[in-house]
Amino acid sequence: MKLWNHYHTPHTIPEALALLGDYGGRARIVAGGTDLLIESRAEGHAPHEALIDITTIRELCDITHDGETVMIGAGVTHSQIVKSTLLQQQAACLVESCGVVGGPQVRNVATIGGNVAHALPAGDGTVSLVALDAEAEVIVNGDRRWLPIRDLYLGPAQSLLNPSRDLLLRFRLRGTKPGEASAFNRIMRPQGVALPVLGCAVWIALDEEGARYAKARVCIAPVAPTPVRSEAVEAALVGQATTDATLASAVAAAHATLRPRTSKYRATAEYRHEMIEVLLRRTLITALERARSSQVS
Ligand SMILES: Cc1cc2nc3c(=O)[nH]c(=O)nc-3n(C[C@H](O)[C@H](O)[C@H](O)COP(=O)(O)OP(=O)(O)OC[C@H]3O[C@@H](n4cnc5c(N)ncnc54)[C@H](O)[C@@H]3O)c2cc1C
Repeated sequence: MKLWNHYHTPHTIPEALALLGDYGGRARIVAGGTDLLIESRAEGHAPHEALIDITTIRELCDITHDGETVMIGAGVTHSQIVKSTLLQQQAACLVESCGVVGGPQVRNVATIGGNVAHALPAGDGTVSLVALDAEAEVIVNGDRRWLPIRDLYLGPAQSLLNPSRDLLLRFRLRGTKPGEASAFNRIMRPQGVALPVLGCAVWIALDEEGARYAKARVCIAPVAPTPVRSEAVEAALVGQATTDATLASAVAAAHATLRPRTSKYRATAEYRHEMIEVLLRRTLITALERARSSQVS
């Protein structure tokens, strides 16, 4: 089955934009192709007139750190993220979430940009980027700008990006400092190779004594059409002692405010609701242990 008529491998961003312009909406950006080509095959539609591969644009395939900000190109693969010692130190939850995407063959080609551009609320990399408060650099309708990653999402599989016109370039996030840490966990069907029953990423900062949560960001998904921060859970943590009682309040806040839906492929709403406690506790405890040990060293 023919999936495309022309395949382009631009080496610069202007070249990719010029190609998109030349095809006037009939070309499509591709990265690893693990979402796009499977969908194209399943839908059985006419071949794409052209695919424009962004993974040959070197500047979109780098991970860098200037001491303060971490930059991750949209064309960076999940395997690159997992192997990055920089990200293991600066963005542990992202490394953990990218490490469970598909199997090794998928992770070797699938990109973090593709995970976000596909705009599913429970994309594993996406959930961690939201908890890390990442920003995305995009070119939308010719306008190049940075925006909070959450603002990219419009609904399930819908984003601000038109992949026949626009480009997602890179992500930026603040590196992790002493007393701060992140963690990610997910619950998956045993035979599952795609999206989770439920995923959870948390980022926390402790106060100087390590006795209270000074800041917290929590993303549990899918519980809405787009990936969202669980603000009630965050409010139950911030300013509170790092005790079991606070964990219990955070779980109670999650149960009171999050409404997961039944998915015929993954799990019932009731099961997901119950699993919120397991996942949130597990992830918060890991983040807390990490934050404490980073404060000591
Ligand atoms: C067997 C299997 C298992 C999987 N398991 C998981 C899993 O466990 N967790 C999970 O989250 N996902 C999973 N996925 C889904 C998929 O692998 C990920 O979402 C992956 O990150 C997509 O990246 P990609 O580079 O392959 O995207 P592509 O398929 O190349 O692109 C996806 C979409 O984004 C657009 N796009 C890509 N890059 C850009 C860009 N830079 N600018 C603008 N638009 C862009 C494309 O046009 C397309 O619409 C799985 C897929 C398979 C096939």
